[in-house]
Parts: sequence; structure tokens; C-alpha cells
Amino acid sequence: MASVGSTANPLRVAIIGSGPAGFYTVSNLLKHTELAIEMDMFERLPTPFGLVRAGVAPDHQKDKTVTRAFDKSAEASSFRFFGNVEYGNHIKLEDLRAHYHQVVFAIGAQSDRSLDIPGEAAVGSHTATEFVAWYNGHPDYVDYEFDLSGSSAAIVGLGNVAIDVARILCKTPAELESTDIADYALEAMRNSRLKTVYVLGRRGPAQAAFSPAEIKEMGELTVTDIQVRSEEAALDDLSRATLENSGDKNALKNVQLIDEFSRWQSTGKDKRLIIRFMVSPTEILSDSDGKVSAIRIVRNEAYRDESGQVRARPTSEEELLPVNLVFRSVGYKGIRLPEIPFDDALGTFKNVEGRITDQAGIALTGLYVAGWIKRGATGVIGSNKTDARET
Ligand code: NAP
Repeated sequence: MASVGSTANPLRVAIIGSGPAGFYTVSNLLKHTELAIEMDMFERLPTPFGLVRAGVAPDHQKDKTVTRAFDKSAEASSFRFFGNVEYGNHIKLEDLRAHYHQVVFAIGAQSDRSLDIPGEAAVGSHTATEFVAWYNGHPDYVDYEFDLSGSSAAIVGLGNVAIDVARILCKTPAELESTDIADYALEAMRNSRLKTVYVLGRRGPAQAAFSPAEIKEMGELTVTDIQVRSEEAALDDLSRATLENSGDKNALKNVQLIDEFSRWQSTGKDKRLIIRFMVSPTEILSDSDGKVSAIRIVRNEAYRDESGQVRARPTSEEELLPVNLVFRSVGYKGIRLPEIPFDDALGTFKNVEGRITDQAGIALTGLYVAGWIKRGATGVIGSNKTDARET
């Protein structure tokens, strides 16, 4: 038989998932012009692009232009896209093994980390990812309902998703009209009565997971005053020492921006965005109808763990913030798929540099992984390019 990768016997690759990791896998394979390769991409939804379509904020349309590069890859005659096909349901590992030399799983991280605090299941307590998928028109979430009739909301977490959600809640309907937001979500925003949005971070500005560009944009909101307490913007001794040592440019910029915000005075705008640091939620309280009525938070103090990281631990100082909605935005987590070894601690498929392994670390022939389900939910869209190249 002709060797694999020859014109008579092309290397056949199945790619499961059509987000950035899937498409960067395709573009990397297309560079191997020395091989004849045939690629089939299988996607659970009818449409491609994963989180570029359903995760990127609707007012960040520039971030979506990456799909032009994905479109270009999809034009290759060696590439086919099959929508509405779900691994484990419509196709199984034995089907893929029978028809392909290699299978690359690029299914992203489809679940959320939880807070594990009482009241998390109250009506009006949601994951940020549900809200994001809803306002982006993800077919699985169009029937979700978010009650925006209350006056305040809390978003837990200091990552870019938390900032996206805060920004969408703090923009005007007129500003949202020109975005990609789903029509029903725009209508809900028009009726929103939210006046106060809290973003709650368990560590300080030096450890915030948001990017400088994202937090800077929050200072440009037209109808929302931004508030940061000066004592929470100030760095504790451990954070200052760590930052001086590391010289981490993003963290330095974040700290500088938060410090600037802490000096801003209210200008009497219609809404307030209150960013809190060194606080952790300990309970979500609800009224007699089971609806969120408040969130209890505890002040944290910084300490250094055995690995040298600055972490937060609770003090005895508590506060109650009256809120009607809670969005938990504490990161994504991968989910298991049938027959693929899973690392429970990391929420990823067991792998070494993109080769799926068994639980003992032995590579499983022909099985690969790329993107968030390989390395965890970190990095930006472009991070998946190098990730897929490694795979
Ligand atoms: P993330 O960046 O991992 O941030 C998660 C946040 O949740 C961190 O601030 C973390 O704090 C906090 N957290 C975790 N467990 C917590 C707990 N039990 N209590 C309180 N806080 C807790 O996750 P993400 O915001 O979901 O974003 C996922 C990835 O997508 C990131 O790489 C992000 O940069 C990317 N993304 C990028 C953009 C963009 O570029 N515009 C937009 C959206 C998302 P600790 O640091 O203390 O753990």
C-alpha cells in the first residue's frame, strides 16, 4: 500500500470542533505541502467558529475578523465541514478510527467552574458564560431568561469574561445597537433597570486576570461612572515585592489603570460600575421567592503560598451587598468525552504536547488534542495558533 500522506493514500485527519483551535489545526496542516492531507471537521452546531461566534463580546467585532483567515483555510479543496454532528452521539471513536489516520479534538472548555458557596442555585444566579452565550445568540441559550428589572448585579471574577459582561451591562442600548448582540438580548437591555454593577475580585489589582486593554476600555463608558476604593487599589507589601521582581508589564499596566480609576470622582452618570478587590463571596442570599437579594462577601488578606504565588485568604470582616443578579465568572472547565482519558484536576484531556495519552502517560496512536481542552481555558484567540502548531 502507498505510504500515508502520498497522493494515492492521503493522510486523513478528523478535527472535532470548529473554534480557533480547530481552524488553527487546519491552517497548520495546510502548511505541510509535502504531504497529501484530507481534513474533515465535525461540529455539534450548524455553524462554525465556536467562541469566536458565541464568546467574543458583540461590541468587539474586530476580534472576530480572525474568521476571515478561518474562511480561507476552509476554501482548501482538501477540507470539508460537517455541521450538526456531535461526537459521542452521531459519531463514535470507532467510526473515526475506521476512517481517519488521526483525530484531533478541539472542543474547547464547555463548562464552568463553580464557587461552591451556599445559594449558588438561587433564581438570578447565573454563570457568566450562560449570559455571554445568550447575548451572542448561541442556539442552546436563546431560551434563557435574565431578569434585568432589578437595580444591581454582581459579577464574581476578575478575568476578561467578567469585564466583557460588566461592559455589556453598562453600555446604553444605543451603543449596543451597532454591535453583533442578539436582537432579543438588545430588547432585554432596553428594558434593563440596572444602575449598579459590582465586579468582585478575590485578589488585588496586581493579580487581576483581565488584560490592560480591556480594563482601560471601562474608563470610556458613556453613562457609567467607575468606582474603585483607594485602599483596595493600593498594593499590599507582598504584591508590590512580587511585581517589582517580575516586572510583568500587563500587571504593571493593570495596577496603574486601577490606581487612576481610584482617583476618579463620580460625575453623576446614570450607572455605577464598582470594582472591588480582595473580597470573596461566601453566600448568595435570596428572598421568599427564591430570587437573589444579596451577596455576602468577606475581606481577604494576601499571603504567599509554598510555590511563591500571592494568594488570598479570608479575614473575619464581612459585608452584605444588596444585588438582584449574580454572574459567576470564575473560568471555564473542560468536559469529558466518551473513551478519551481525562485529567479531572486540570479539566483537560490527558496529553503530552498535544498527543492524547492514557492515564499512565503512554501516547494513544492517532489521537490528538488542541486548544482549551488541551491546556485549560487560558490565553486569547491567537494563543491557539501556537498551541495547534505544537499539536
Ligand atoms: P480567567 O481569565 O481564568 O479569570 C477567572 C477569574 O476568576 C480570575 O480573576 C480568578 O481569580 C477568579 N476566580 C477563580 N475562582 C474563583 C473563586 N472561587 N472565587 C472568586 N474568584 C475566582 O477566566 P475568564 O475570564 O473566563 O477567561 C477565560 C479566557 O478567555 C482567558 O484566557 C481570557 O483572557 C480569555 N478571554 C479573552 C478576552 C479578550 O481578549 N478580550 C475576552 C474574554 C475571554 P484568581 O486569579 O484569584 O484565581
